[in-house]
Amino acid sequence: MNNNVNKLLELQDIDNATREKKLRIDKLEQRKDNLEEEISLLKEKEKEREERLKKLKEESREKNQEVDELQDQIKKYQERLDEGIISFKETEALEEKIEHSTRRMEKLEDEAIDIMMEIDRTEEEREKQKSETREAITEKKEKIEDLEEKKKEMADELQELEKKREKALEGIPDRLVSQYDRLRATNNDPVVQIKNGVCQGCQMSVSKNTVKQARDSQGIATCENCSRILYIG
Ligand SMILES: [Zn+2]
Repeated sequence: MNNNVNKLLELQDIDNATREKKLRIDKLEQRKDNLEEEISLLKEKEKEREERLKKLKEESREKNQEVDELQDQIKKYQERLDEGIISFKETEALEEKIEHSTRRMEKLEDEAIDIMMEIDRTEEEREKQKSETREAITEKKEKIEDLEEKKKEMADELQELEKKREKALEGIPDRLVSQYDRLRATNNDPVVQIKNGVCQGCQMSVSKNTVKQARDSQGIATCENCSRILYIG
């Protein structure tokens, strides 16, 4: 086999290993992005839960305040009634107001109790949710750290491959490297074998002359159909 073809094959191996590694790095990066997205979703959910609890407490405070106000109002109505210096009509109107306010107050008190119960329940749940979220976030952060480490490792390996590539390029004529690079832009296998007279890149038969040329240790044979560089293994 032509010595240059041998070198190109080595180059191709390095380039394919590099490509593989880059793909794996991309996947690691993607996984890391997903984990980060998951963490921010968890944090967002926590924030929503906190806000819901805050809203419940606010609602409870308002409800209780309303109850207090009604209580004061009822007390005032009652005082006016107790003074007894009002007309029968006024008395009747006040009694009606007291009855109405009392009913409203009782309803609000019931609602206030329901809210209070919900706050208690929510607070209890929150403790569990908080620790679960904390654990989940820690776990994801650890995974991210592992991914970062792996990525660094692979970046080092990539650098090694780059050095190897430079070394592999030594001694290959520029013209051949250009041809290889051009082919490489569309195919991962610019250098392929001829098997039974068939180019293993495009699966087309090549001429006898090309087969002869590939066998020859002097020249470089290329496929008439796909222009790949050919060799006979
Ligand atoms: Zn071909």
